[in-house]
Parts: sequence; structure tokens; C-alpha cells
Amino acid sequence: MSRSHELYQQVILDHNKNPRNYRVIPDATYSCEGHNPLCGDHITLFLNVGADGIISDVSFQGNGCAISKASASMMTTFLKGKSSDEAKSLFKEFHDMVIGDLDPDVQETHLGKLTLFKGVREYSSRIKCASLAWHALMGALEKQVSATTEA
Ligand code: ZN
Repeated sequence: MSRSHELYQQVILDHNKNPRNYRVIPDATYSCEGHNPLCGDHITLFLNVGADGIISDVSFQGNGCAISKASASMMTTFLKGKSSDEAKSLFKEFHDMVIGDLDPDVQETHLGKLTLFKGVREYSSRIKCASLAWHALMGALEKQVSATTEA
């Protein structure tokens, strides 16, 4: 097993066991329920965006597999303090990476630690688990109450 794969598994397990930002924001500006019917993952994303367009708080709650939870945990940590426009372009990069159109090993990305999820390319059934939180985020930014990985 490669070192990067070992690291991937460790980080997923850690975030699954101790998810960051795992809470409800009671007065959230936006919230969106995301659903991945292929795996049964279900998360609700909460989002506060200030008048300046900056994400001041973002959190999630729900039930799902280790990858969907770890991805939501890492995404929420990564997005705090970024603008909603940045979040939209990060979604595109993340999506392109997990489907294999963007290779962080040879192409420049702004994904930082999230490039860890490039590993899911090899497991096509997991791609939607990793991107569920992002679909819910996009739904929230577009003021939708629900989002699905099948959209
Ligand atoms: Zn899943």
C-alpha cells in the first residue's frame, strides 16, 4: 500500500470519528439538505455568509459513510473565511479532481489538503460520497432547500 493511500485512510478515519463543524447553526443564512441515493448518505449543510460575501460559519450534520462525513468535515474547515465565489470555483476544482479531469499531482489547484480526495477516482462508487457535501454547499449558495448528487 502506498504512503499516500495510508495517509488518505488515516485522515478519513480521523474525520469520520471526530467530524469538525458537526453541529447545527440555528440561525444560518442558508441551509440545504444533500442526499446521495447511491450510498444512502444524507447531510444537512448550514451556512452563514456575511454582507461582504465571506463565509463566516459553515457546519453540517447527518448520516453517511466515512468518506461523505470526512469530506464534509474537511470541506467545512477549509471554507471558513473564504468568499462564496471562491467556494464555487473550489467546487469545480474538487469535482473535476474526483472525476479525474484535474490531476493535482501535475496541475495547479487551490484545494490544499482536500487534494487527498483524489484517491476516490479509483473507486467510482465513492465519487458521489466525496462530493455530496459540495453539492449541498452549492445548493445552499443557490438558496435551494435540497440537493442531490444525481442532479
Ligand atoms: Zn457514501
